[in-house]
Amino acid sequence: MTTVYLDGKFMPMSEAKISPMDRGFLFGDGVYEVIPSHSGKPVGFLQHMDRLKKNLAEIEIKVTMSDADWRLVAESLMAENGNGCLGIYIHVSRGADITRFHAYPEHIKPTIFAFAFDIPETPEPDKNTVKGYKVVSAEDMRWKRCHIKSTSLLGNVMHFQNGQERGVHETILYNRLNELTEASSCNVFIVKNEVVATPPLDNQLLPGVTRNMLIDILRKEAVLEIQERIINMAEVRSADEIWLTSSSRGVVPVVELDGKQVGNGNVGDIWQLAQALFSAHKFDY
Ligand code: PLP
Repeated sequence: MTTVYLDGKFMPMSEAKISPMDRGFLFGDGVYEVIPSHSGKPVGFLQHMDRLKKNLAEIEIKVTMSDADWRLVAESLMAENGNGCLGIYIHVSRGADITRFHAYPEHIKPTIFAFAFDIPETPEPDKNTVKGYKVVSAEDMRWKRCHIKSTSLLGNVMHFQNGQERGVHETILYNRLNELTEASSCNVFIVKNEVVATPPLDNQLLPGVTRNMLIDILRKEAVLEIQERIINMAEVRSADEIWLTSSSRGVVPVVELDGKQVGNGNVGDIWQLAQALFSAHKFDY
């Protein structure tokens, strides 16, 4: 049975109860994290903690848990749930009030919920065996605070659903200027002539931990040029390679965009190189 964590206690998922007056439920008023873990070892734990703290400060939720407290929760969930390839989901909402009123109430306690779920194993860095994603593109219709990892995910959910209904894995998003932002649940990288590029961080995209780690690893290894810059959709459509990054999926090659093949339609050599470096160094973070 799945064990979860709710407000200081571990319990079976079926026993975890949250008030319908919780602002996470009524307003999507909260933030979350997903920390990947492979063979019992978390990846990027401190970076996830930093982002969680920034996000909590940004929406003015005060939580007294330290990084060590969160680590204990994550490790207990990993031990309880089999220590395979897991995503540790951490969710902090503003808490439950007795009435529904938009302003932040002053005297309520945040609701803290965490559980573990299976994530795919990191693929071998082999372009011949990895399965490439198919994606579509759409204008980004979300809000102007996409840098916050908010639990208000309806905009993302609708974009993701659009992809599902069109029989693909993800939807890549662009702004009104036809510039790439990110995907509905991932960051996006392109490769052209062996130069790797990804959009710069701003309010249009989530500062992905996987994105950050991959950039850092590629810069340290210095085998490829890597740029953070504005990328228009014409460049995305003519890229040699496209990759998606997220904690639960790692670095995923894309082989088809809007029904057309990416590059030569096969997973690329640069993905293979980047995946090998990412696998070798991900536990450094
Ligand atoms: N962008 C969005 C909208 C996401 O939801 C996610 C992950 O859930 C990411 C990017 C990737 O972030 P990370 O690498 O921290 O998982």
